[in-house]
Formats: sequence, structure tokens, C-alpha cells
Amino acid sequence: MEIAENIQRLKHSVPAYVRIVAVSKTIPETDILEAYHCNHRIFGENRVQELLRKQTNLPRDIEWHMIGHLQSNKVKYIAPFIAMIHSVDNLDLLSVINQEAIKNNRIIHCLLQIRIAQEETKYGLSPEGAHELLSAPEFQQMKNISICGLMGMATFTQDTARIRSEFRSLAGCFRQIKSDHFSTYESFSELSMGMSGDYPIALEEGATLLRIGTLIFGERT
Ligand SMILES: *Cc1c(COP(=O)(O)O)cnc(C)c1O
Repeated sequence: MEIAENIQRLKHSVPAYVRIVAVSKTIPETDILEAYHCNHRIFGENRVQELLRKQTNLPRDIEWHMIGHLQSNKVKYIAPFIAMIHSVDNLDLLSVINQEAIKNNRIIHCLLQIRIAQEETKYGLSPEGAHELLSAPEFQQMKNISICGLMGMATFTQDTARIRSEFRSLAGCFRQIKSDHFSTYESFSELSMGMSGDYPIALEEGATLLRIGTLIFGERT
């Protein structure tokens, strides 16, 4: 009951063009079904094994998004069904995704993860790194990849000015990459930023995809 209300409330508080990825990592399938039964279809997971179990057990028309760090050797398991991979941060990984997409005869939608937080984080490309990746001849050959936009995570802090400036820098990076690499591609249109604690700021700075767990399902245990 509460999950349904949480989703309705969230959907009413965002513009129609914004999509919400319900982050269901660690959340039991019964709770996911509750969200599903109030017409929610987009769910995000960060571990391949858990994602596979849920994809097997839950309705076929769920759109699964991979939002966590992805190892190349696990791509083959999710390639047949994954709707979007938010966490691409190197060319080798992208190359494996392309190969697996070919085997499955599909185009896989990907976002480049950009490191925007000032705090030390392991994952994500610099804006220059993203530019290099997109300029690489190998990338030009990858016919079964569609780069749909960028993803980023702000620093975990109460300092809202800092969060805003990090989201703003991601939006700036998005505009630059769009004009340099995708000016004629409508499909480069997604900015995945904003979680339970900072999504209102992300919306103001141009987010099109929000990744929200706690506000929908409650605190993870
Ligand atoms: C867990 C997670 C989220 C959601 O976090 P909440 O604070 O529960 O909304 C969003 N993005 C990523 C990459 C995550 O791992």
C-alpha cells in the first residue's frame, strides 16, 4: 500500500518527460510486484546475480536497468533482456556489450557514467575520457550500441550547493558531448542523475531519468 502511494506521489511531483527508475536492489520481489501493480515498469538493480533472479521470477514486461558497476564477464547474462546500462565507463566494457548485443541480435542502450563527485570514487569517466572514448575508431565500429546519454552521482553530502554544482557540471558535459558527437542523433537525450536525497536538485538541473530507491521502498536493511 505504502509503496503504491510513494510511487504515485513521486510521479505527480515530476514533469511528464522525466522517467523514474525504481531502484529495487535488496528489495524483495513481493515489494517490486506492489510497484508493478500500480503500473510501474522501470526498475534498477546493481548486481547481476540479483538482477537475473528477479528478471526470471517477475513479469516479462518489466524494463530492467543496470545501474551498478558491471564486469565484462557478466555482460553475457544480461545482454538478452537489459533495457539500459547506466554504468558504462570504459571502451573495453562497451566493446563486450556490443559483441553480446550482436549475439542477441539487438541494440543495447547505454549511458556513459561520468565522475562528477569531488569525493574519491572508483567508477566513472572524466569528461575528457568520455570524449576520447567517443572519438575512438573502435567505438565508431560498434553498430549494436546506442549511447543514449550520461549518468552521474553527486557527492553524498548535505551541502546542496555542492550537489547542485556537480549536477550542473554533468548537464554541461551532456551539452558539450551532444554538440561534439551526437548533434544529429535524437537518441542522445538522457541525463540520469538524482537519487532519493537529491532528486529535486537534479530535476532543476535537467535530469530526465531519476534513480530512486529509498523514497519508494523505504530504507534498505
Ligand atoms: C542505490 C542506488 C540509487 C538509489 O539510492 P536511494 O538513495 O535509495 O534512492 C541510485 N543510483 C545508484 C547507482 C544506486 O546504487
